Amino acid sequence: MTFAIHGITVSRGIAIGRAVLVASSRVDVAHYFIAPEQIRAELRRLRQARDAVIEELERLRHEIPEDAPHEELGALLDVHLMLLQDEMLGAEVMQWITERRYNAEWALVTQMEIIARQFDEMQDPYLRERGADLEQVIERLIRQLKGAAVPLLEIASPPREAAAGPDEAQQVPLVLVAHDLSPADMLQFKKSVFTGFVTDVGGKTSHTAIVARSMDIPAVVGARSASHLVRQDDWVIIDGDAGVTIVDPSPIILAEYGFKQRQGELERGRLSRLRNTPARTLDGQPIELLANIEQPTDTAAALAVSAVGVGLFRTEFLFMGREGKLPDEEEQYAAYRQAVEGMHGLPVTIRTVDVGADKPLDDRRPDTHLNPALGLRAIRWSLSEPAMFLTQLRAILRAAAHGKVNLLIPMLAHGSEIRQSLELIAKARAQLDARALVHGPVRLGAMIEVPAAALSLRMFLRYFDFLSIGTNDLIQYTLAIDRADESVAHLFDQLHPAVLRLLADTIAEGARQGKPVSVCGEMAGDTGMTRLLIGLGLRAFSMHPSQILAVKQEVLRADAGKLTRWAEQVLASDEPAELMLAKL
Ligand code: PEP
Ligand code: MG
Repeated sequence: MTFAIHGITVSRGIAIGRAVLVASSRVDVAHYFIAPEQIRAELRRLRQARDAVIEELERLRHEIPEDAPHEELGALLDVHLMLLQDEMLGAEVMQWITERRYNAEWALVTQMEIIARQFDEMQDPYLRERGADLEQVIERLIRQLKGAAVPLLEIASPPREAAAGPDEAQQVPLVLVAHDLSPADMLQFKKSVFTGFVTDVGGKTSHTAIVARSMDIPAVVGARSASHLVRQDDWVIIDGDAGVTIVDPSPIILAEYGFKQRQGELERGRLSRLRNTPARTLDGQPIELLANIEQPTDTAAALAVSAVGVGLFRTEFLFMGREGKLPDEEEQYAAYRQAVEGMHGLPVTIRTVDVGADKPLDDRRPDTHLNPALGLRAIRWSLSEPAMFLTQLRAILRAAAHGKVNLLIPMLAHGSEIRQSLELIAKARAQLDARALVHGPVRLGAMIEVPAAALSLRMFLRYFDFLSIGTNDLIQYTLAIDRADESVAHLFDQLHPAVLRLLADTIAEGARQGKPVSVCGEMAGDTGMTRLLIGLGLRAFSMHPSQILAVKQEVLRADAGKLTRWAEQVLASDEPAELMLAKL
């Protein structure tokens, strides 16, 4: 039966595929794709595990202690042995391995969920309870497999040759359905075969959503109970434009979405022609379109759409998902240098680490403070760990010897934080000099993402060469809306008069003092906001590479002079959203 689940759109486009449910199972296992040449070995691994468990159960059957209830225990073990030899657990599990190239553990839990549902739906209470036996049998099998097991909950990429293979596994598009995904998990998926994803939780500017956007695949977050309603292997349509997930679509709906998908591809093709067109408004104002990146290798995507630099390198992704083992100076230096060299002389804005809130260092140890977004996050954490911060600063300063580097500091609010940061930058340079290591000049920038910063711009501009407005956090902190919480996502309002006032003042003050101001929050990549931001005087936009050409199209159609006058009216209005709807 077809049904729709509504969520929040984070990444546009249509994806159609079979659902892969991750971590929905009660049994936590590794999930990864195997290469075609590994299929036989994986089947052998499964067979060996099954034979070992059968042997174990038969031994138990013969060794039931005298004082134990022989009949009951014997019957139970018989049920388990029977389940182990059942086709549903044999042939069908093998099929997940041969056709989808799931690893054996993943194949087992996938099949377990399918059978468990069938048990759940049974009328007979005795039969229904056999579902628990099934789980126990599978747990035994998984424990057996784990002798040679791989890390927990890891979705790795299929090997390159697998991705290119013409066989069945590649013909079935897969979409990912999960309760939640940490930003670190998302980075794993960047290399994966999924063509779309949907999660139960998350807001439009949550970090999971941001990484999803950078993957440039259709995605919906905040879909509440999607991971309960969607079943393993269901056909699913993810409509990233409308924020809707359609489960088990009828042939008519499938055809309609197939058509929409092709239209989207045509539109992308049209946009790609703008790649080499300079970003200038109709009245000749040049607009800088920069890229946001999470990993050094993302520079390729930035150059592919002719970004004029990296406006935000979120370095925290180098620090996350490593069980607290932080990258050392050499590893960081190599990563920053790779990004700098990857941009071939174009500037790279490296932001110092911004962990905390919904970007925990270690997913398995989430922040348990009551208000993590107001806690030890970003620069606050860096200043509380000076040795870690100095390591990062030295690595950035060394990378600056290889190209143009801007050093950006997140979430500053206090003069004391600014001064401490500057002192540590000077100290990092002195340490490099003492070790006779080459380092380069950097321009220093502050992120304006706390209202206190936006209301004390003169203090900031005294110390910094440029400002970058982080609208995701600026909106979160101005409106007191947790950006990761889907239940208040409807209140996350980019057009709130208070937000526009802080934006307008920051842009205007930067212009007055001749210091560049950019926006690097998600608002910069939202084509519905491009004209307003130009009208407010913004001339530098930093966004995910996948959004650059669509924003450029808006720039090319814009008349900055007219937009300035219109933006003044929007600013003066008590209901800017209404004026926005009327548009110019
Ligand atoms: C922002 O807050 O707008 C921003 C760009 O930083 P992040 O999304 O990484 O917090
Ligand atoms: Mg931020």
